[in-house]
Order: sequence, then structure tokens, then C-alpha cells
Amino acid sequence: MTHIITSLCVRDRGCIDVCPVECMVPGQPINEWPWIYIDPDTCIDCGACVPECPFAAIFPEDEVPSAYTAKGGEYISNVGLTGHFEGTNHHGGKIVLDTTRQLEAGEVVDFTPDIKPNYDFFKGGPGYGAKDSDDGM
Ligand code: SF4
Ligand code: SF4
Repeated sequence: MTHIITSLCVRDRGCIDVCPVECMVPGQPINEWPWIYIDPDTCIDCGACVPECPFAAIFPEDEVPSAYTAKGGEYISNVGLTGHFEGTNHHGGKIVLDTTRQLEAGEVVDFTPDIKPNYDFFKGGPGYGAKDSDDGM
């Protein structure tokens, strides 16, 4: 199994530093790969990244919610969305995302479609090569 980063990820980067096997890679280009991605073949399911995410975006693969009920105000980030999010990441760097949408309270979202991109990123996608163009965002 592996852990999965869902579209609740806004690239805070808090998770990356704690991964003991360094299998979390910031997606590039951002408008095509807007999250941080976990290499499913390398992740050891230690769970260390989960409490480090201020946005509660990371789940064990078999616990990715199919009916997440939004608190309201949280952002999802996904290819094709056009909302704007700005913030400061775990290291004090700027985050600017133009692939977002803010959820409304009580809205129910299925995050299980987010599982596949985590695999695709490493199989046919940029994979670890994205680290070469990592600009800190
Ligand atoms: S800590 Fe959460 S929001 Fe930040 S990069 Fe990791 S998964 Fe994404
Ligand atoms: S569960 Fe552990 S090994 Fe897997 S991505 Fe998170 S910190 Fe890394």
C-alpha cells in the first residue's frame, strides 16, 4: 500500500522533510501537477507525513475519503480549476496557485479520483525528475 496526497494539498511542504525515504516530490509544472506526490513503490506507510500536513490532505490509500464533508473555506487544487490561492509555505516561501476552488461548508467531495494521479506522476509523469525544476513552491 501507499499513502496518498489528495487535492486538499496546497503545497505547504510541511510533509516532505519528515519522510524517512524521501519519496515525496513537488509536482512540476504546477498547472499540470499541482500537488506533492508520493512514490507508491517507495512509501513505507510509516504515517509520519500525516500529522505534518496543516491541511489534512494525506491519507493511507484505503482511507482516502469518498465522501469528505467540507468544513467550509478549505481549498482544493486540481487541474482545470481557475481559483486563486496565495499563502506562505512551511519554509516561509510564497505559494501561488491558480488551480484552486474554495469549498463551501457541508459540500461533499469524493477524493478517491485523486489516487490515480499519485501513481501516474511516477509512471509516465515527471516523477523524481521534477526535482530538477523545483523552485521551492
Ligand atoms: S503538508 Fe499537506 S498541503 Fe503541504 S505539501 Fe504536504 S500534503 Fe500538501
Ligand atoms: S507514509 Fe511515511 S514513507 Fe510514506 S510518504 Fe508519508 S512519511 Fe513518506
